[in-house]
Amino acid sequence: MSYDRYEVLYALRNASVQTLDTDDYESEPSESNAFKECLNWARRHWRSVQIKKLPSYQCNPKIPRSNQTFCSVCLENFELNQTVRKLGCSHEFHSQCVDKWLKSKPTCPLCRAPL
Ligand SMILES: [Zn+2]
Ligand SMILES: [Zn+2]
Repeated sequence: MSYDRYEVLYALRNASVQTLDTDDYESEPSESNAFKECLNWARRHWRSVQIKKLPSYQCNPKIPRSNQTFCSVCLENFELNQTVRKLGCSHEFHSQCVDKWLKSKPTCPLCRAPL
């Protein structure tokens, strides 16, 4: 039996509207490798779609948008024109730092709030 990747993605999207967390979906041992491969692909795809939906802005230290002045992933300050990503929990990080983090773990690096 073969699966269309977009079919799997669509099913996952519908299944995860409430939680936005496809990690809750465990594949059965009886399912084929092709299905598991699709599932992993859909999971990665779904996550990157969620990451792109998060708000971001270009940093200007002269006009601070929050009281956070540095990124807790790399511990560097937010510098002029760097892209800052704001998560649902209001924590802010460099987008290049947090995007990488979120691809492997869909939670805030600081407070562990789900994506
Ligand atoms: Zn950073
Ligand atoms: Zn947080």
